[in-house]
Amino acid sequence: ILQLYGPLTLFGTSYRSLQKNFIDMEKMLDLFKEPVEIQDEPEAKPLVMTGGEVVFENVSFGYNPLYPNLKSVSFTIPQGKKLALVGPSGGGKSTILRLLFRFYDPTQGRILIDGQDIKTVTQSSLRRRIGIVPQDTALFNETIGYNIGYGKIGQDHAQIFDPSRCSLFRRRTSSNASSDRGDDVQRVLLSGKPAKPGSRGRKHKISSPSSSQGTAGATEGDEDADGEGEGADYDDDEDWEDDGRIQAAAEAARIHEIISRFPEGYATRVGERGMRLSGGEKQRVAIARTILKNPPILLLDEATSALDTQTEREIQNSIESISKDRTTLMIAHRLSTIVDADEILVIQQGEIAEQGSHEELMQAGGIYAAMWMQQLREDRTPAVSSHSSQKD
Ligand code: ATP
Repeated sequence: ILQLYGPLTLFGTSYRSLQKNFIDMEKMLDLFKEPVEIQDEPEAKPLVMTGGEVVFENVSFGYNPLYPNLKSVSFTIPQGKKLALVGPSGGGKSTILRLLFRFYDPTQGRILIDGQDIKTVTQSSLRRRIGIVPQDTALFNETIGYNIGYGKIGQDHAQIFDPSRCSLFRRRTSSNASSDRGDDVQRVLLSGKPAKPGSRGRKHKISSPSSSQGTAGATEGDEDADGEGEGADYDDDEDWEDDGRIQAAAEAARIHEIISRFPEGYATRVGERGMRLSGGEKQRVAIARTILKNPPILLLDEATSALDTQTEREIQNSIESISKDRTTLMIAHRLSTIVDADEILVIQQGEIAEQGSHEELMQAGGIYAAMWMQQLREDRTPAVSSHSSQKD
C-alpha cells in the first residue's frame, strides 16, 4: 500500500493540475468565443425614425481585429428601397446584417439610420425598428400563438428574437451545437442577462394545462435596459392569443389555415416538445411576427433549405408584400428573387465587387452575370442542381 501511495498521490496531483489547465484553457477559449458586449453610450438617445434611410460609410470590421472581414464598405439604401446582397459564401453578407443590428460595432466607419450613427442610439430603440426574417426561425417551446405573438411583444421591447438561435447571428463555435434545441430559448439573450424568473408566465396566458411552468421563454423585458417600452407588456387581463391581430398576421403570412388544422389551433404547442413545423411553416411564423412588429427596416436572409416550388413561391409573395415600402436589406441565394431589387451588391472577400441594378450588372458581364448564368444552368439540369450549390 505504501508503495502505491506515492504514485497515486502524484497521479492525483497531476490529474488536478491537468484538470485546472483544461478549465483555464476553456476560460481562455471562452474569451475568444464571446464578442465584446455592445454597450449603450452613457449619452445614448432613442433612435428617431424619420423615414428609414440606411447608410454604411466606409465600414470596416473584423471578428479578429487583425483580419478584416469587411473592408471600407459604403452604400446607401434610401427610405423604402430594397438592397440585395449576393456573393460567395464567407464574403461578408451576414456580417453586414449583424452590424446593422449592432451585434458588433465597426472597427472603422459609421452606420447611419436617418442620419444618426447607430452607435449613439439605444440598442433597444434600434432593434425595435428592425424586423428580421432569418433562414431558420427560432421557435419557443410554447403555443403557436405565443410564437407568432412574440413579434408583437418584441415590438415594444428591444429584442424580437434570440439571436443565439438564428444562423445569421450564431457564432461559429462548437458551443452552438445545442442552439437548435427548442428548450434553449430561456438562455441568455443578446444582453447576456438571464431571463427574469416569473415575468414570462405573466405574459403567457394560454398555455395548455400541461405546459410546464418552468419553460420560461425569452424575457424580452430584460433586454430593455434603458426602460423604454416598459409597460407595454400584455397585462393580466389580456388574452393575447385571442388577439385578432395575431390571426390577421397569420392569415397574411398564409399560415392561418395550417394552424386551423392543428389539434388545438393557436393553442397547439410547437417546438422541440410539441408539434414540429416544417422549414416553410417556420418561415411563415417569422413573416407573421414581422407583420405584427411592423418595422420600418427589414433584414431578410433568404432560405437555402429545401422548400417545394409552391411553398417557395408563396413565401416569396409574402416576403415581397412585407418588404414593400420598408427599407430592406436582403441576402439573396436565389438570384431570380432579386431581379426587382433597387440595387444589388456583390460582396466578395469583404468588399463590394460590383454594384448596380440587375440590368446594369447583367450588361456589365462580370461576376453577377456569371452567377446568373450558372444558376440558369443549374435550374435547367435539376438532377445536378442541389440546394447547396444554389446557395451562393
Ligand atoms: P454565407 O453565404 O456562407 O452565409 P456570408 O457572405 O454571409 O457567408 P459571413 O457570415 O458574413 O459571410 O462571414 C464573413 C467571414 O467572417 C467569413 O470568413 C467567416 O468565416 C467569418 N466569420 C463569420 N462569423 C464569425 C465569427 N463569429 N467569428 C469569427 N469569424 C467569423
